Amino acid sequence: MISRIKGTEDTIEESWLWEWIEERFKGVATNFGFTQIRTPTFEATELFDRGVGNETDIVQKEMYTFEDKGGRSITLRPEGTAPVMRAFIEHNLSSKGLPQKLFYYGPMFRYEKPQSGRLREFHQFGAELIGSALPIADVFVISMAIEMLNSVGLTNFKLKINSTGDENCRPEYVKALKDYYRDLLPKLCDDCKVRYERNVLRLLDCKKDAEYAKDAPKITDYLCNDCKTHFDTLKRYLDELDIEYEVDPSIVRGLDYYTRTVFEFKYPALGAQDAIGGGGRYDRLIEELGGSKTPSVGFAFGIERIILALKMENKIPESKGIDIYVIAVDDAQRMESLKIAKALSKFFRVDVDIMGRNLKGQFSQASKENARFVIVIGEEEIKEGLYTVKNMKSGEQKRVRFSDIIEMVKA
Ligand code: AMP
Repeated sequence: MISRIKGTEDTIEESWLWEWIEERFKGVATNFGFTQIRTPTFEATELFDRGVGNETDIVQKEMYTFEDKGGRSITLRPEGTAPVMRAFIEHNLSSKGLPQKLFYYGPMFRYEKPQSGRLREFHQFGAELIGSALPIADVFVISMAIEMLNSVGLTNFKLKINSTGDENCRPEYVKALKDYYRDLLPKLCDDCKVRYERNVLRLLDCKKDAEYAKDAPKITDYLCNDCKTHFDTLKRYLDELDIEYEVDPSIVRGLDYYTRTVFEFKYPALGAQDAIGGGGRYDRLIEELGGSKTPSVGFAFGIERIILALKMENKIPESKGIDIYVIAVDDAQRMESLKIAKALSKFFRVDVDIMGRNLKGQFSQASKENARFVIVIGEEEIKEGLYTVKNMKSGEQKRVRFSDIIEMVKA
């Protein structure tokens, strides 16, 4: 037997739930004026080297990189922002006017150690607001993200925010952080020993070394005036919108491109993998990738973790089932039942027997498929042009004309 690759999942019975979440998220994003962008699932490796950052865990150890038959280095996308910005530059989207508001949805690939809530192929729904440097843009995307979580009924999440400064103030902070961690180095985990040299900010969000992060210098004490004003304004706006948040200096995000605002949505009940989404401001990414300076802010949710959270909150809606099951009393009416089913399928989700089941078998199949209505087609019905429609929930039964079936089921 050939099995699926470690860290990947088949979605079978829950496909409808995925669609349901996707529809809700799309609905909110559309109402906030965002349109969808679809980018390829693989890109030139250089995009992530430059965009996500050479020193990040993603680029260092988690990318699915291979050489294609033409000798190019290709990477399955580990995240969605760098590809969207590549497309923004390549199609000169700034010429259409700013801001550009784009959302995306699709699989991402990271070679991580699989565990609950951590996969090698997972799905993100993300949004990017391109072109504004103002804190009002940060609050705009954060409030949209909250609307999205609310749209699927999630409530027990926590918004954590921080600022990672910018090119003016971050170097000073990095220096202070290195000074602080220098003596602690022998006690740190192996990953953090490497991160110390490459990406010292990441020491702050290491779960293993969390105890040392508590007393580490805080970025908020090192922000330059502009970054401080930006962060203070963002907090004021969040307060004005009654959005609850916590300033958490350990939120640094794993990607190099963030400047100033970073945020994460945590769902504490999920345990080790408790981030259901995250994002922030990336004012220099487009420039890094060869475009002109275009400050932007965005976020991405992890769909698998949102589903885990929905299960924990018992918020999974009931699977809807079909609208109508068309039953043939015996073989003579099978063709007629197929015709009726075909006609009704223009309006409803319909099923009809194709297994040659008897009357009882068809009724139990209708219940199995959660049919709301059953239409019984017998000799009499065909002769009179009146069909027996049964409401499976109430048990109520009526004989109606075909044209009335549509009104009845719709009601
Ligand atoms: P990131 O930009 O890495 O913070 O990813 C954004 C969101 O994607 C996270 O908050 C998670 O919900 C989700 N995510 C990231 N990596 C994985 C993974 N390996 N498996 C499942 N979900 C993930």
